[in-house]
Amino acid sequence: MKRVEIIAVGNELLIGDVLDTNTNWLCKRLTMMGAFVRKAVLVRDDEEAIASEVKGAISRGTDLLFTSGGLGPTDDDRTVAAVAKAMGLPLELNEEALKMVERRYKELYEQGFVDSPEITPSRRKMAILPKGAIPLFNPVGTAPGVWLEVSAGCEVQDAEKGKTVIVCLPGVPAELKGIFENSLPPLLEQVLGKGFYDERTFEATCRDESVLAPLLKKVAEKHPSVYLKSKARTFGQEVRIRILLAASGSDKKAVEQAIRNAIDDLLAELEPHGIVLIPVAEG
Ligand code: ATP
Repeated sequence: MKRVEIIAVGNELLIGDVLDTNTNWLCKRLTMMGAFVRKAVLVRDDEEAIASEVKGAISRGTDLLFTSGGLGPTDDDRTVAAVAKAMGLPLELNEEALKMVERRYKELYEQGFVDSPEITPSRRKMAILPKGAIPLFNPVGTAPGVWLEVSAGCEVQDAEKGKTVIVCLPGVPAELKGIFENSLPPLLEQVLGKGFYDERTFEATCRDESVLAPLLKKVAEKHPSVYLKSKARTFGQEVRIRILLAASGSDKKAVEQAIRNAIDDLLAELEPHGIVLIPVAEG
């Protein structure tokens, strides 16, 4: 499974002003594509801090690194510069990105949302990308996303081996989702392959998670490819504990079979304790 890391950038996240929903959204979306998200961090709008996390992710052999935030026109939007710095790549005007920015400002001007379509230095900044980067059209905002393939040797990569793809997305959630859904599925399929994710949720007729824990542990140990988790709630007479079983991989049938096998073993473990599993409807 391909290893994914996420760096969410923004002072607003670390002073508690804005909740980092982008990481959560990316985690769900990427897990459902069969990826393994192994780490996510929050960092301030600080070039050194961002670059250090990027270098760390590359050194850990991350296949796919996402950043969120810091792509905008203002001086404190430093993510792209930090990525270039981390990878030792020069920043240069990307003509394709410039066309995207020009097109968006023309549209916004025609809609009466901005006073001028002119490409000012601040607007031009959003088209200055690391050498070798591919811009991703932003259908919602103005700053293009960035797709950059690099190797641990810090040069733009042409061989498959040791490749990391860095994807920089804006902080505004609608823009992050817009670029993702507009451009990324076919590109990500090339990196992740065809991936499948499946999950089942049950309610266990058991009020006490400590009773369930050793039984779940036994099943989880026998089925390492299946994520098995009880979701504790407060105590109460009518409480039932939810249990999630989830798995992902490149073979749909194998993923479904792995979950079925884990459910069978779970039922066998729970039965002697008089605990029944009630399926929870999807969605
Ligand atoms: P902009 O063009 O607006 O400057 P940007 O890519 O530079 O976009 P930021 O300035 O980092 O993005 O963030 C813009 C806004 O998006 C923030 O004020 C915040 O409301 C929201 N935001 C940023 N990061 C996140 C996040 N991780 N989760 C949810 N919302 C976020």
